[in-house]
Amino acid sequence: MTAVAPDPPVVAVLGGGQLGRMLGLAGVPLGVRCRFLDPGAGAPAAALGPLVVGPLGDEAALAQVAAGATVATYEWEGVPAAGARFLEARLPVRPGPAALDVAQDRLAEKDLFRRLGIGVADYVAVDDRRGLSAGLEAVGVPSILKTRRGGYDGKGQVVLRDRHDATLDAAWGELGAADGLILEAMVPFDRELSVLAVRGLDGETACYPLVENVHREGILRVSRAPAPRVDHALAKQAAALAGKLLDEFGYVGVLAVELFDVAGMLFANEIAPRVHNSGHWTIEGAETSQFENHLRAVLGWPLGSTAARDHSVMVNCIGEMPDREAVLAIPGAHLHDYGKEPRPNRKVGHVTITAPSSEELASRLDMLRPVIPSALG
Ligand code: AMP
Repeated sequence: MTAVAPDPPVVAVLGGGQLGRMLGLAGVPLGVRCRFLDPGAGAPAAALGPLVVGPLGDEAALAQVAAGATVATYEWEGVPAAGARFLEARLPVRPGPAALDVAQDRLAEKDLFRRLGIGVADYVAVDDRRGLSAGLEAVGVPSILKTRRGGYDGKGQVVLRDRHDATLDAAWGELGAADGLILEAMVPFDRELSVLAVRGLDGETACYPLVENVHREGILRVSRAPAPRVDHALAKQAAALAGKLLDEFGYVGVLAVELFDVAGMLFANEIAPRVHNSGHWTIEGAETSQFENHLRAVLGWPLGSTAARDHSVMVNCIGEMPDREAVLAIPGAHLHDYGKEPRPNRKVGHVTITAPSSEELASRLDMLRPVIPSALG
């Protein structure tokens, strides 16, 4: 009798950006094939598997990418939840679309944090110009007016530093046309952190070590992992809030929660129901990368260890790639080029530096500073 190799599992990924590309890459050694749906013919993930070009909410395109696949997942939280629900009738969709509903609406997200007893900034929904004045009375200044939907990387946000009518008129003029706004108190954070957690099909959960993040102009520039100065209580707080969210959704896959650390108290800012930029360090710096663990989870396989192997710093390449050879000359440096056209404020790649100690990491990072001055200043 000749042995017949079983068909490899196929994961249909909604979205074909760099996160999809890195999911595809993680699938290769596992014998997992990824297939992607993206509106752009030049999507970065196309290097890793077949690409269906079409809108993410288009039923014909969704049916095509899912045909014969084992499971569907997504690499972008902007995927229309209706599209994910359409697919649910055909194959398992993991994580389930309920997480998309919440992640796509900042108000629903903050209401959920509040309901689950997770720390969150004061906030109010704003539906008209009068509501903005009333909201400011409730929340105070400084505060941030944000669109409820569609904002990312600092877009769709205005910081309010005073209560003058002219300031409010200008903010309303900029964002008032959006479909709903939210006004949030500015959190006087000591630093930004994120927690990445993964939940398997059997409910097993695991958390990566907390990550410390630096944003500028609303865009993630640098992540450091494990975050320094994390005591047992802080790690426990992060794991507990991530666990509440995972359980709430009956979640399967990797979930990221962006956090503000205020004197050891964690406030949740937003969730991303997918692999996350602040988890890129896990490719070289953890026992199992976030991409591999996401695939393991959505396929119902055992999860891998989330422990850090090293000290890592991940630096985003924004707008353009740095000099390749200059990066590669640095010990412990790993270059990731997403193959995207350079464009201002676009994430086109990242560099992760790993080192066996924080001192060694600092000296390697000093070598990277002149190579990516825009990120490390
Ligand atoms: P977001 O689009 O909500 O992730 O916001 C992007 C960045 O803006 C965050 O990573 C913070 O640096 C900053 N930010 C957003 N909301 C707040 C807030 N309520 N308080 C302080 N900083 C904030």
